[in-house]
Amino acid sequence: MNNTQKPKGPWIHRFLIVFFTAFFAVLVYWALGFLVEDIRSIPGPLYPEIEKEYLDPGLAEQEKALSREIAETERAIAGRKDELRIIGDTSGNLQGTINQLLELQRLAVQKSAALSDREQANLSDSLAAFLESQRRYQAVSAELSRLTELKETLLSEKNTLERTMEEKRRPAREEFDRLIERHNLRLAALQLAILLPLLAVSAFLVIRKRKTLYFPLFLGFASAVLVKSALVIHQYFPTRYVRYLLVAGLLAAVGRLVVYFIRSAAFPDARQLWKQHREGYEYFLCPVCEFPIRRGPRKYLFWTRRSLKKLVPPEDCGEDEPYCCPSCGTVLFEECPRCGRIRHALLPWCEHCCGEKSLEEEKETEE
Ligand SMILES: [Zn+2]
Ligand SMILES: [Zn+2]
Repeated sequence: MNNTQKPKGPWIHRFLIVFFTAFFAVLVYWALGFLVEDIRSIPGPLYPEIEKEYLDPGLAEQEKALSREIAETERAIAGRKDELRIIGDTSGNLQGTINQLLELQRLAVQKSAALSDREQANLSDSLAAFLESQRRYQAVSAELSRLTELKETLLSEKNTLERTMEEKRRPAREEFDRLIERHNLRLAALQLAILLPLLAVSAFLVIRKRKTLYFPLFLGFASAVLVKSALVIHQYFPTRYVRYLLVAGLLAAVGRLVVYFIRSAAFPDARQLWKQHREGYEYFLCPVCEFPIRRGPRKYLFWTRRSLKKLVPPEDCGEDEPYCCPSCGTVLFEECPRCGRIRHALLPWCEHCCGEKSLEEEKETEE
């Protein structure tokens, strides 16, 4: 018995095959990821190095010194402002004291008396302190305005310097962009140099080994390589090229599928044909025209694919005899040439003697 059909195996095995194929694909993808990652870690051009070639380092030093000076001036300004606040507070206090003393003096004059010596001394001390603090206030104010002016000057100097540097930096940045682009292209080429041959090999294997037992392994490997390559291409090349590539690939794939289905509908291969016939017999419907096969106990019944399960055929099994579809004329049950009993005409094996029928013989029967 040279049955061409492979045994399907228990469902848990089939499930595990699918599961481990997917797992295998993920592992392959992972391994490719390491490879790609290593290539990506090749160091590229560094901007500071390039800037050094275009920009006089003296300018950067100058800028740093200016910044430092500006920071110092700002600190000094803040210090002076604090000082002014403190002096202001002190003056306010002194003024209060003086006002009180003057009030006392005024009252004393009204009573035609004079301030005591201590009060007199207090008054003149307070006045002297007040005047001193006013003088300091003015001095600190002047210092503050000098510092503010200095800061303005420094800031404008720094601005000019920055503009000059910016102008010199532009060509540096352009050069850097150019180098980075070249570096990225090199990285992409390196990655594709590894991925594309792998892709070609896996595609070859998938096409070559599609009939073999280990096809899922090749398919898993090819899918992983395909996804990784697509991602690398997408990352390094402008989207518009990738789009054309993708559309071309999809067109080819869909076209191939359509051709495949058209061909398999027009010239079904043996296994598909037998599958179709088997389904027909299972439902007791003519595999060619779907007309109910009314033979044996089902002779006077009616059913469709849906109602078949509810149908209980009568016990009586009449004599088995050849049967031909009354609707399309196809022979569905015939005498077996080997054992002489009645067998399915459109299935490969006789249920009584296991005699095989080739597809060519079957086609003759069908015609
Ligand atoms: Zn028929
Ligand atoms: Zn037979």
